[in-house]
Amino acid sequence: MTFADLRNFAHLHPGLAALSAGAFGACVGSFLNVCIHRLPKGESIVKPGSHCACGQPIPFWLNIPLFGWLFLRGRAKCCGATISVRYPLVELATALLFVAAWSFLPPAKAVAACVFLPLLVLLAGCDLDDMMVPDAPNFALVGTGILFAMLIPSMLGETGHSIEAVNRFRALIDSLLGVAVGTALIWWIRTLGTILAGREAMGEADIILCAGIGAYCGWQGAVFCLFGGSVVGVVTALPSWIISKIKGEEYEGVVPFVPSLAIAGAVWFFRGPELVLAWRTWAGS
Ligand SMILES: [Zn+2]
Repeated sequence: MTFADLRNFAHLHPGLAALSAGAFGACVGSFLNVCIHRLPKGESIVKPGSHCACGQPIPFWLNIPLFGWLFLRGRAKCCGATISVRYPLVELATALLFVAAWSFLPPAKAVAACVFLPLLVLLAGCDLDDMMVPDAPNFALVGTGILFAMLIPSMLGETGHSIEAVNRFRALIDSLLGVAVGTALIWWIRTLGTILAGREAMGEADIILCAGIGAYCGWQGAVFCLFGGSVVGVVTALPSWIISKIKGEEYEGVVPFVPSLAIAGAVWFFRGPELVLAWRTWAGS
């Protein structure tokens, strides 16, 4: 089967192709769950194979993404321990992201999305799970972003020049500028925030993440992810803030900044330039 066959098949059966993309995404999500569980603890993600918290190995048919959890109704077969709802949620989110990438992105950019989006899910998952974001996938985001910029210049919209090498060079500059702007912006906000709030406002993980999103999306993407991410963060923290105000308690929640940045980064990756255009049209009218 060649690539052309694959494209032909996708053209003839779009529903089946999207379903395949979703199934692939769910499997990637299943692997991400292992990473989210093990990476922050510094454990190997390869060995040992899937096992329950009680030590029993998990048979492959209970490891099938989404269905395994649904079939077990969130309880381990061996010892009855609850399996976190995080597992099916990560699988579902990754599956939907892959379907979206398949359906809405040009093929070359969709290939980059297969690395970019899972890394975002992984980082967000680690942050939500135990507030501990490992460095390796975060730096991988920066590295692969710069690499994909050179391999797929159209990812950063660099298709204008007739000489391909020029497009690649321009995309590389865009990507590096994205890293620089992402890093600098968050560093300033962190410094100001720390002075104003009197405690560390953001972690180093936020800086590297913003740099990574800049590497994939360019400097506009880095700026967007920061402001878009702040909006997402405030909106998600608002309900618990209001509840604590009503109860007259001190607000002790933290804004989940890594997931918020990741959501904004993904939004820009899919529809960034169109969003800016829509905004300009709306503001101008
Ligand atoms: Zn068990």
